[in-house]
Amino acid sequence: MAVRTITTLGAPILRQVAQPVDLTTVASPTFQNLLHDMVETMIAAQGIGLAAPQINVSLQVAIINGQAGPYAIINPRLQKSSRQTELAEEGCLSIPDVFGTVRRPARVTVTYDDEQGRPQSTAATGLLARVMQHEIDHLNGVLFIDKVQQITQGQLP
Ligand SMILES: [Zn+2]
Repeated sequence: MAVRTITTLGAPILRQVAQPVDLTTVASPTFQNLLHDMVETMIAAQGIGLAAPQINVSLQVAIINGQAGPYAIINPRLQKSSRQTELAEEGCLSIPDVFGTVRRPARVTVTYDDEQGRPQSTAATGLLARVMQHEIDHLNGVLFIDKVQQITQGQLP
């Protein structure tokens, strides 16, 4: 296991749609190592979420640092989003030292496969809903600065 280098703004992979994960590969040591490395990298960087393109891997997988600890969301899909929105401050490990307010749906339902390839569904609100949307955006090549209303700290390069 290893802490991997986090890609930063300007890296083309951050703007690409990541490849779907083939669920027959989820149990493989290579894929499980990837998940472990993503967890280690996220914790070392003190993040609350990390998407695979942020460590230069084009796969539809992200780690969410939930209340019960980190877990993987594989091939996540936003199934439902509330009409009600919330404005809150976000940052991104790939855009260091820049923070800004982003308006997002307050409640979302996300379906995904877990680290054993089993289908899951989560209804999320608050910070969890925000982190999930931020990470799913990464898997589609979208960054929070694309949606930012106001930069509150730092400066875009
Ligand atoms: Zn991010």
